[in-house]
Amino acid sequence: MLSNYHTHSHYCDGKGELRDYVQLALANGFAALGFSGHAPLPFKNNFSIHDEDYLAYCNEVRALKEEYSHRIDIRLGLEIDYVPGVNDNFQPLIQQGGLDYCIGGVHLVTDPNDTEWLHDHPAEAAERIWFIDGPRQETYDEGLQRVFHGDIRLGVTSFFHQSNAMIESQHPTIVAHFNKIVMHNRDRYFLETDKWYLDLVYETIELIREVGCIVEVNTRGIYKKRHDDFYPSRQLLRHMADKHIPVIISTDAHCPDDLLKTEGAEEYLRAIRYPEIVSILP
Ligand SMILES: [Zn+2]
Ligand SMILES: [Zn+2]
Repeated sequence: MLSNYHTHSHYCDGKGELRDYVQLALANGFAALGFSGHAPLPFKNNFSIHDEDYLAYCNEVRALKEEYSHRIDIRLGLEIDYVPGVNDNFQPLIQQGGLDYCIGGVHLVTDPNDTEWLHDHPAEAAERIWFIDGPRQETYDEGLQRVFHGDIRLGVTSFFHQSNAMIESQHPTIVAHFNKIVMHNRDRYFLETDKWYLDLVYETIELIREVGCIVEVNTRGIYKKRHDDFYPSRQLLRHMADKHIPVIISTDAHCPDDLLKTEGAEEYLRAIRYPEIVSILP
């Protein structure tokens, strides 16, 4: 059953109309398609849906859902950033938009001692945040210096603790690329075999198991040539298989053609006899 629930569009930092994605999905026999634009944030940035466009986005997805209901199961969702003090309650957006599901993720890491300040100055949050995603390694290096004075262990620990707080308090339907912190690292500051790093990752996996979220197997790093593995990595997927944590394959599409870029994820999961592969959300 072909599906994709991690899909952006022109409403945020992707390209193309929502309908272009639906048509590509139909032409390729998809059974389901979920839209997950980057949720609006209370500070200026160049990737999220603008506040004033949020309801238009929701209404357009709902209209397509209705129009194509006999051919494909379209779902309305968001990829929501968990930012302590700034965006740490997903419910208002979920209620306001009438969402079917949400993908929770951390792209913006904060100093845990800053939460109160951020709460009082949300519009200035961008200055106090480590942006770990995006195309440029320089952004990652600069943010690590500015927010964590170059202390990679403190920065990575904050990333995972922030993710844990999100999982525990928000119970997102799907947890996004939960080890994306490695993307711009490229083995420069730490290795993915370092014990302190693995301890953090295993702790997050255990929490996901307890809470009962689905984890996405995100293929975007591979086809964008920013990383040579899935998020989470093959090694972590083998660990997760033993714990029977449900996974769903996500291409994190930013243009219609990206919907097809699964990069062998399903073949890999079948090869290791992964026990819980979700293809259609209930
Ligand atoms: Zn993301
Ligand atoms: Zn995304």
